[in-house]
Amino acid sequence: MTIGINGWETTKTVFDVLIIGAGPAALIMASALAHHGLSLQGLAPKHPHTPWPNTYGVWCDELETLGLSDLLGHRWQNTVSYFGREVATEPTRHHRDYGLFDKDKLQQHLLDQLGAMTWQLGKAAAITHTDNYSCVTTESGDELKAKLVIDTTGHQAALVKRPMPKNPPVSYQVAYGIVGKFSKPPVAPGQFSLMDYRAGHLSAAELAGPPTFLYAMDLGDDVFFVEETSLALAPALAYDTLKDRLQKRLSAEGVEVSEIDHTEYCLFPMNLPLPDLNQRVLGFGGAASMVHPATGYMVGAMLRRAPTVGDAIANAIANGAEGSAIANIGWHTLWTTERLRKHHIYQFGLETLMRFNHRELCQFFDSFFKLPQAKWSGFLADTLSPFELVMAMVTMFGQTTNPVRGGLMGGVGTDGQLLLKSLIGTA
Ligand SMILES: Cc1cc2nc3c(=O)[nH]c(=O)nc-3n(C[C@H](O)[C@H](O)[C@H](O)COP(=O)(O)OP(=O)(O)OC[C@H]3O[C@@H](n4cnc5c(N)ncnc54)[C@H](O)[C@@H]3O)c2cc1C
Repeated sequence: MTIGINGWETTKTVFDVLIIGAGPAALIMASALAHHGLSLQGLAPKHPHTPWPNTYGVWCDELETLGLSDLLGHRWQNTVSYFGREVATEPTRHHRDYGLFDKDKLQQHLLDQLGAMTWQLGKAAAITHTDNYSCVTTESGDELKAKLVIDTTGHQAALVKRPMPKNPPVSYQVAYGIVGKFSKPPVAPGQFSLMDYRAGHLSAAELAGPPTFLYAMDLGDDVFFVEETSLALAPALAYDTLKDRLQKRLSAEGVEVSEIDHTEYCLFPMNLPLPDLNQRVLGFGGAASMVHPATGYMVGAMLRRAPTVGDAIANAIANGAEGSAIANIGWHTLWTTERLRKHHIYQFGLETLMRFNHRELCQFFDSFFKLPQAKWSGFLADTLSPFELVMAMVTMFGQTTNPVRGGLMGGVGTDGQLLLKSLIGTA
């Protein structure tokens, strides 16, 4: 079945680009390619208008830079975190607006730019290559051909190959959340809480276990979103633990859930190995390990990077590049040496964070958010140069506590190979 978007159908047998998937990565990449006049085809199990399951958050200034602020559904000026154990802990105020995408608006905004792209419903099962094109076979046996295939099928990529993770093992961000109504506000009205690490409701044994925090926001009309989150852990923390901790946290505040509109089960890998950058299939999004290894965010980075990758692909095709040359240009535009360096530094940071206990983790974040805002913002958005990133870490090292310094020093011994890779700048 072929669906022509905007009524356009094609008779081409070899497209310029075939995009596998219809999530954020697919539509962001497709919209970056569409205005170059390339012939585009998409392959996904469901119609690309099918609503996405997740809701995506972003710091508002990341969208302002891109001129996309009108894609936000919610925006908070009162943005805080808590890095102390007790309920009476004073909040850290971020003085930076945070927002949630209106995900339908984001999706429609991207679809509106796809022009003559056609879509095939189905799942990619296999791929073969000739000198000039690649051929994807779907589970139902259809064959789709293109000069370049871009895999955007998410963290468990259908076609992109990556080395099997050994050391460090894959760590997962896991969260259990509820959108609904409560007997009283679980966060202050009008507030967004990025990381609430207060843990007075936990027993000593629980506190000695993996740290978790509350991500919470007032969605208006008496509706709130509360989500107990494990930033990163290998193996992943169980949903039951998160559910139990959320319940205890709310009970300790005398908050009861009175109505559940939606329950979110969130699980994704934080430190998947980088893909082989010499392979013939290009990846983008989760398939290309683009998740920020220290935060789990990706949508802002995809919106920023897709135009550059799209330009490089379009130029390569216009200049007559064929076969693996096009994918090669795409991979090396996406994962430049500079970006590879930063990726390994972030991975080092993540591995160190995962070894911190609750107290050290709170001290770490407390020091981190005391950095000048341009530094912590750039760290989270991945917009600093490798030098600026290292300098931000050095500054933080200088102003944090001795236990955190000890943890960071210990990390050099345990995960020094990541720092070595960051110097070399290879995958
Ligand atoms: C619950 C949750 C909340 C998140 N919140 C945020 C957030 O607030 N901010 C942020 O920046 N990031 C967030 N992330 C991280 C990340 O941005 C998301 O995981 C994002 O959805 C990844 O986008 P993607 O397009 O790469 O993959 P996906 O969204 O997983 O899309 C994959 C697409 O590929 C299709 N597909 C799969 N297999 C095949 C196949 N064989 N053939 C054809 N198509 C196939 C799927 O149907 C789907 O359309 C969150 C992740 C989760 C899970």
